[in-house]
Amino acid sequence: AKQLYERAKPHLNIGTMGHVDHGKTTLTAAITKVLADRGLAAAVPFEGIDRAPEERDRGITINIAHVQYETATRHYAHVDMPGHADFVKNMITGAAQLDGAVLVVSAQDGAMPQTREHIVLARQVGVRHVVVAINKADAAADAEILDLVELEVRELLSEYGYPGDEVPVVRVSGLRALEGDPYWTARIMDLLDAVDAYVPVPPRVLDKPFLLPVENVYTITGRGTVVTGVVAQGSVELGDRIEVVGLGDTFASVVTGLETFGQTMRHAEAGDNTAMLLRGVQRGQIRRGQVVSAPGAIAPHVRFRARVRLLTAAEGGRGNPLFHGYRPQFHFRTTDVPGTVDLGGEGAMALPGDTVEMAVELGKPIALAEGLGFAVREGGRTVGAGTVVAIMQ
Ligand code: GDP
Ligand code: MG
Repeated sequence: AKQLYERAKPHLNIGTMGHVDHGKTTLTAAITKVLADRGLAAAVPFEGIDRAPEERDRGITINIAHVQYETATRHYAHVDMPGHADFVKNMITGAAQLDGAVLVVSAQDGAMPQTREHIVLARQVGVRHVVVAINKADAAADAEILDLVELEVRELLSEYGYPGDEVPVVRVSGLRALEGDPYWTARIMDLLDAVDAYVPVPPRVLDKPFLLPVENVYTITGRGTVVTGVVAQGSVELGDRIEVVGLGDTFASVVTGLETFGQTMRHAEAGDNTAMLLRGVQRGQIRRGQVVSAPGAIAPHVRFRARVRLLTAAEGGRGNPLFHGYRPQFHFRTTDVPGTVDLGGEGAMALPGDTVEMAVELGKPIALAEGLGFAVREGGRTVGAGTVVAIMQ
């Protein structure tokens, strides 16, 4: 039988972000190795993290890989974020659940365009706490370079509303730690200590109805359909009735299995990385972008009013205005759908840098509620960050 998950330490969701090749995946592997040597994780090798076939072929991370580990005081689920601009889309959906992030910056290159873009995105999706890992410190020409990179990153963080002077900055070498070098192994522990100390256990929304945005769907032969994701709010128990909402007709089911990282759970609550087995649901009925919720808790909608901040070109947004009738992609939770922007009439326009009110009509119904955040994207760029202000019937 599978082990029962013991909720002995607070659980947090963190992840690596930063420019491609700055060493996010190497650092993630190093963290699991260093903690595995202390009995606090299962070591996951680099190849085990960069595991989707497309990633190996193209040598870049396009999916989000999860690993788990413990420190003395916490249990962490860690997502290794994609680094390439084309896959920022995955970052949006993954970052939305992060309680904190480790920003990886190579000591050899310093801050690069994706470093900035990821800081902007993290800020938009509400990641409040960032810890900086200046990686490849083993390869820095001298200490002065490291000081300069640190200064640069602190300023960049301040520019986007993070307390750049306060954020912990740790100089690490994922590669050397992975090789077992004692000095660099100790620096990984320094980094984890900084995360433990600086990223607070977030308040979990436990007093609202259960809601889990579907990230992935699997079929377990002989048992049925399993969906995975992080519980956004509330809690759920074995035997609970639920609804699947969005992208089509709402339908009901019952939770017949709950797991986290291969361990069974009696109940799952806000913040938990969860796999749920749903009774009588066929593989084709459920997909990424839907939500599993308590019955009646949320409904699908296509029309809403929103407040949207349009990013400037320096933040990765548009260089020119957008007009009434604009048709970008709207990214909600784990999915994106096209939608049409109503700015109030023919000829109305909005400029990058502005915060504007707009009405939106989506091409497909999405489980919507007031206060829900979303990203507006177009041709591989994030052009705006929005919040649902009101549902329109
Ligand atoms: P990612 O794209 O940010 O996930 O970067 P990877 O983890 O794939 O690393 C990119 C390259 O940098 C690889 O060739 C790594 O071996 C190398 N690398 C990663 N960490 C370090 C480090 O701490 N020191 C040195 N010298 N090289 C590193
Ligand atoms: Mg990687």
